[in-house]
Amino acid sequence: MSINYIYPEFEVVRNQNRCICCRVCERQCANEVHRFDKDGKVMLSDESKCVNCQRCVSLCPTRALKIVKSDCTLRENANWQNQTIKEIYKQAESGGVLLSSMGNPNPLPVYWDKILINASQVTNPSIDPLREPMETKVFLGKKPNKVERDKNGEFINNLTPQIELSMPVMFSAMSYGSISYNAHKSLAMAAKELGILYNTGEGGLHEDFYVYGDNTIVQVASGRFGVHEKYLQAGKAIEIKMGQGAKPGIGGHLPGTKIVGDVSKTRMIPEGSDAISPAPHHDIYSIEDLRQLVYSLKEATAYKKPVIVKVAAVHNIAAIASGIARSGADVIAIDGFRGGTGAAPTRIRDNVGIPIELALAAVDKRLRDEGIRNNVSLVVGGSVRSAADVVKAVALGADACYIATAALLALGCHLCRTCQTGKCNWGIATQNPELVKRLNPEIGSGRLINLMTAWKHEIKEMMGGMGINSIETLRGNRLMLRGIGLNEKELEILGISHAGE
Ligand code: SF4
Ligand code: SF4
Ligand code: SF4
Repeated sequence: MSINYIYPEFEVVRNQNRCICCRVCERQCANEVHRFDKDGKVMLSDESKCVNCQRCVSLCPTRALKIVKSDCTLRENANWQNQTIKEIYKQAESGGVLLSSMGNPNPLPVYWDKILINASQVTNPSIDPLREPMETKVFLGKKPNKVERDKNGEFINNLTPQIELSMPVMFSAMSYGSISYNAHKSLAMAAKELGILYNTGEGGLHEDFYVYGDNTIVQVASGRFGVHEKYLQAGKAIEIKMGQGAKPGIGGHLPGTKIVGDVSKTRMIPEGSDAISPAPHHDIYSIEDLRQLVYSLKEATAYKKPVIVKVAAVHNIAAIASGIARSGADVIAIDGFRGGTGAAPTRIRDNVGIPIELALAAVDKRLRDEGIRNNVSLVVGGSVRSAADVVKAVALGADACYIATAALLALGCHLCRTCQTGKCNWGIATQNPELVKRLNPEIGSGRLINLMTAWKHEIKEMMGGMGINSIETLRGNRLMLRGIGLNEKELEILGISHAGE
């Protein structure tokens, strides 16, 4: 007899006095937790399958349901905690690598929460964003170090192509395949309406979304899925993905079960075959190789598209960024270790990489010290959760931020962290047509637009409080930041003073 070592993590609490046996929960749960017992005329639950996505709770018409964390605990101690013991049991049973989704959940420092923003008082007065114009527009791309004029005194415009954003936020790479058609459509529609960009990720661009090209970053990853000339021409910018915060140093894997229909067509691979992107690009082993790819992509698009190089935040990120800045790339995107993912090996997600705040500060300083900061723009991601995080990132040196998890939350994601199963009850990380249609792109894009509109208001309020009326003048202005509860080394890397100084 096999023993089930793992007690369910969640309990389904059903108030029988409220339950009217409408079976909505049964229909809404793709994990088949709820079931109607015809004989007893009562709803039953198999809690071992519940991932706490809250779908049934949200749709129960009588508020009869609650999902609670089970208080049944193993004999844990500070060293061997519940989760660690359960992981051993799982691997002892499966013999496989543990897979996870979304970002690193461990209680490692979130530096955004240890940084405080300044506000003007008395002198250098604050600005009222409701009455005064405030500029949140940013341009990404190489900037000239000086203004030049020709012999007639006319201004010489030698700017390389720039990405114009109405605010310093973009939707980060999430591939069609890892997320649904309707999720991609919601992001594309919202980006167009907002005047920002969304990112195809490594899954190619569905033909229906070419109309959103001016608001699209097309990604070129190591697997080259869906990459062809028309695809490169379609986007506003091209991103070479060298690394990703959730899984630095390894490739990607979308299981064959998700390579169906349009996903297979868009990726240009047969239905049912696993989409495995290798860990390295097999043509890049040096900055010179990277430079070749950057210029091949520019050549293929008549030098009209800025090229972004995306890397994961790792130990020597400042030196890596310095190399990328000399490769001809227009933008460096850095993804911190709390960045989300559709699926990553748990050990990699939770143990590899460094926080984006430290990486950003180190890279900005290095590029300034080397006099090449204007060669590139910096975009950072990896758990940017609010307008305050955006303002802090800009003051630490970022030109803009990438958000993904926050965007998915706006679409209805409840962070159940089981995207890798393909059974997303909210219609986001799934290709099951019955689940996909649960996400209405009109409603989804409306919610994304609301979120970004709210953040824009908040960014303006914080800028006004600092007496700053243009986001570009905040970039790298670390005097506007103070640390709290940080040690000398952390303050030194962040390049900020402690609160009270
Ligand atoms: S949705 Fe609510 S009322 Fe309907 S069967 Fe489930 S628990 Fe009962
Ligand atoms: S998996 Fe989601 S829908 Fe299913 S029982 Fe749990 S919370 Fe409800
Ligand atoms: S996208 Fe869906 S499956 Fe993934 S964490 Fe969010 S709700 Fe869960």
